[in-house]
Amino acid sequence: MAIALGHPENGYYRKADPLGAAGDFITSPEISQIFGEIIGLWAAVTWQQAGAPSLVRLVELGPGRGTLMADALRAANNVPGFAQALAVHLVETSPVLRDRQRQALAKTQVEWHESLSDIPAGPAIIIANEFFDALPTNQYVRTPEGWRERRIEIDDDADCLAFIATDDAPPPGTIPSELAKAPVGSMFEHSPNRQAECTELGHRLAAEGIAALIIDYGHALPGIGETLQAVRRHQPHDVLSNAGEVDLTTHVDFSAVADAARGAGARSWPPLSQGSFLTALGAEQRTESLASAAAPDQAANLRTGLKRLIAADGMGTLFKVMALTGADAPPPAGFETTGMILSE
Ligand code: SAH
Repeated sequence: MAIALGHPENGYYRKADPLGAAGDFITSPEISQIFGEIIGLWAAVTWQQAGAPSLVRLVELGPGRGTLMADALRAANNVPGFAQALAVHLVETSPVLRDRQRQALAKTQVEWHESLSDIPAGPAIIIANEFFDALPTNQYVRTPEGWRERRIEIDDDADCLAFIATDDAPPPGTIPSELAKAPVGSMFEHSPNRQAECTELGHRLAAEGIAALIIDYGHALPGIGETLQAVRRHQPHDVLSNAGEVDLTTHVDFSAVADAARGAGARSWPPLSQGSFLTALGAEQRTESLASAAAPDQAANLRTGLKRLIAADGMGTLFKVMALTGADAPPPAGFETTGMILSE
């Protein structure tokens, strides 16, 4: 995954813009402007809750075409004082997508970074939509002897990539204790890169405040099962073929995200479904108010887009939204009714 997605010349994310109808996949901000607008308002409310500091860094990890950030800033500009307090930072490794972001955010002063650790200190609101699913993942298979790592090798005879079983046990602490005795043949996925990124997020929030919002497909509790998938031209694809030409992802284990952030001193709020989060923040009312002023075909697009984002048979249930905050922060907007720490 690391090489196929991130190789400096041949990596999938370095070469081309993969998003949109003509690309390989489509994401929530590309489906409806409501998505970014609601996140922009969430960011503004979170800033107010934190006492409206005079400088807040609005950070996005993996901003794609910059659509979410552009929609968020447009909506948040209506909140007095927020725009003046903002410094916008984008973490993006793809030169092609940095160009797209530059176009989408032409009117905004933006700084780009290679990684979260490069962002200057200070209170920050950090947004990541479909970023964590792209970080490389390890796979472990339960054998009669215990958990063992599965890897990918080059099969020289067949001239292709192949999965291989190894005798390597996972580092201590990798497999959650409740899965230690899972049936032989079970698979567990674990992403050290994701854990490292969430630990860093946690340290930053614990030391400097304010909040992170992580949106992705995944599960709230640790689970067994293989979720590594490849997508090309909006269709499932073999995960070992056409490396560098296809998108590769795994589902995000939100309990692991929460553990890493909490271990670093931050607070995690139990994940909501994307449908619940958007509904709680008024996505339906916002859509209706835009639709009532729009031409009939635009109004229909707005309503269809929202439905896809919140419906259980669309992206409303599989996609989860998790908030992380500093240790003493109040529940962020949308997370009030489930305000407890996940492990408790
Ligand atoms: N958030 C956007 C795009 C999601 S695609 C949207 O919702 O439309 C994943 C994004 O993460 C792309 O911008 C990709 O270039 C970026 N990305 C993937 N791996 C990365 C890494 N290791 N560091 C920084 N950005 C990365």
